[in-house]
Amino acid sequence: MTGPEAPGSRIDLGQLRDIPCPLCGGGRSRVKIRERFADLNSAFDYFSEDGGHYRINECLECGFVYSSPVLSEEAVRRLYNAADASPCTDQTSDQSISVNMRRYVQRLMRHSGIRSGRLLDIGCGCGHLLRAAQGLGLEAQGIDPSQDAVQTACGQGCAALHGNYTAESFPENHFDLVSVIHVIDHVLDPLGLLRNVRRHLRPGGAVLVATHNIASLLARITGDRFLAYNIQHITYYTPASLDRMIAAAGLKPVKRLRSLTTYSLRHLAQNGLRDPWRRRAEKTLSLLGLGGLQLTFPFGNIEAVAVKREAS
Ligand SMILES: [Zn+2]
Repeated sequence: MTGPEAPGSRIDLGQLRDIPCPLCGGGRSRVKIRERFADLNSAFDYFSEDGGHYRINECLECGFVYSSPVLSEEAVRRLYNAADASPCTDQTSDQSISVNMRRYVQRLMRHSGIRSGRLLDIGCGCGHLLRAAQGLGLEAQGIDPSQDAVQTACGQGCAALHGNYTAESFPENHFDLVSVIHVIDHVLDPLGLLRNVRRHLRPGGAVLVATHNIASLLARITGDRFLAYNIQHITYYTPASLDRMIAAAGLKPVKRLRSLTTYSLRHLAQNGLRDPWRRRAEKTLSLLGLGGLQLTFPFGNIEAVAVKREAS
């Protein structure tokens, strides 16, 4: 391997590296689902047809399910930057995203009993959750590694910081509430991320973590083809392993919820179907004028609310 590559250069399988279990650090695992790649380079495109997934392993020490071998964080960042990751542009999915984000904030407020104060959204993207939180009377701040997304968020009246979320991103004991929506499954060190959340929460503060549930009915029905098994995900959770990850970070799980998610029919066709069915479905929906119709279901996701103990 030679020095750093030019942006946009090709990724190959030789760049994949084995990682230990992200929950317990153990090095022994068994293969749960064999890797399945289409084109590694287009796999990170938000609208890619079917990027496949890494080898999915089950830790022999603690049973946690995770991808390995995987690309480095740096290589992934480069692929994300090259990809067209701009879901902010579609008016219809915009509306359903806002519905979902408002629901997350409401659930966090209800189950923590915290109705006011400062909220941090990690991976805030274009600021949908931040606007929902502002609308519910919170002082909201976000952080995201995508410069474009952060610019959009700031342009729409949100306080968003561009960069990677680290221990130094914010002061200690600063936030009353933190939201981590479909983020811990994308990072190499979810435990480190949640430890940083604990650091930035004030004692008694609460976090809501949302992720895919590989023990869900949808996951069981779709088996190895479960939509969450894709190359963007490093870690995969059951309700029990999500609680263990949260507890390992020194937070106390207080409530576990089955996520309800709202999607437009157009979004479901775009993301839940593969061509040629996707093209056909999109065409039909558009002919019938039904693309914007919104459905609310438990789409194989879970949420957990956890608190930072007062005495800690
Ligand atoms: Zn483990």
